[in-house]
Amino acid sequence: MAWVPEDRAPRQHEETAIARPNGLMIVYTGAGKGKTTAALGLVFRALGRRYRVAMVQFIKGKWKTGEAAMAKELTGRIDFFSLGDGFTWITKNYDQDVASARTAWAKCLELLTDERYQVVIFDELNYVLKYNFLSVEEVLSGLKRKPRRTHVVITGRDAPPELIEAADLVTEMRQIKHPYQAGIKAQPGVDY
Ligand code: ATP
Ligand code: MG
Repeated sequence: MAWVPEDRAPRQHEETAIARPNGLMIVYTGAGKGKTTAALGLVFRALGRRYRVAMVQFIKGKWKTGEAAMAKELTGRIDFFSLGDGFTWITKNYDQDVASARTAWAKCLELLTDERYQVVIFDELNYVLKYNFLSVEEVLSGLKRKPRRTHVVITGRDAPPELIEAADLVTEMRQIKHPYQAGIKAQPGVDY
C-alpha cells in the first residue's frame, strides 16, 4: 500500500489557537490589490464563528461598495460605518480634514472598546495617517485600549513603521499584475 503522509496541519493550527486566545492587531498594507478584501475575508470567517463585527471605512464613497450593501443585510451581526465623507482628502482644507479625522477616530475608539465586538476593522486608516490628519502616536495610544480578546484589522498602503512594529501580524500585498495596467476598469463584485 502506498505511503500517505499524515496531514496534521489543521490540528496543529487548532492547538496554536487554543494556546493563545488573545486578540490580534493585524495590518494589511502594500501597493497590490487585496488589503480590503483580505479584511472582508476575515469578517466572513468571524461571522461564521457568530462573532459580532464592526467595520469603519475611511475612504470617500465614490461608488456604493458591495461590502456596504451586504453589511446592511447583516445588520446586528456586522455594523458598518462609512466615515470618509467628511474629508477633503487632497488637503483642500487641512483643518477640516483634521477635525473629521478626530471625530472619526473617536467613533473608532468607541467601537474598539465596545466588548460586544470581537472583530473591529479600520479600513484605509493608513491614509489618514499618511496625510497627517491623525498622528501615529495618537492612534497607537488609542489602539492600546483594545480589549484583550478583540481582534483589530487596519488596512491601507504605506502603514507607518511604528504601526508595523506594534502589530502582531503584518502582510504586505505586492503587485505583480493588475488589470488596470491593461486599461480594464474596476469591476463590481471584485473591486467595489
Ligand atoms: P481591494 O479593496 O480590492 O482589496 P485594496 O484595499 O488592496 O483593494 P486600495 O488601495 O484600497 O486597495 O484600492 C482600492 C481600489 O483600487 C480597488 O478597486 C482596487 O482594485 C484598486 N487597486 C488596488 N491596487 C491597484 C493598483 N495597483 N492599480 C490600480 N488600481 C488598484
Ligand atoms: Mg482598500
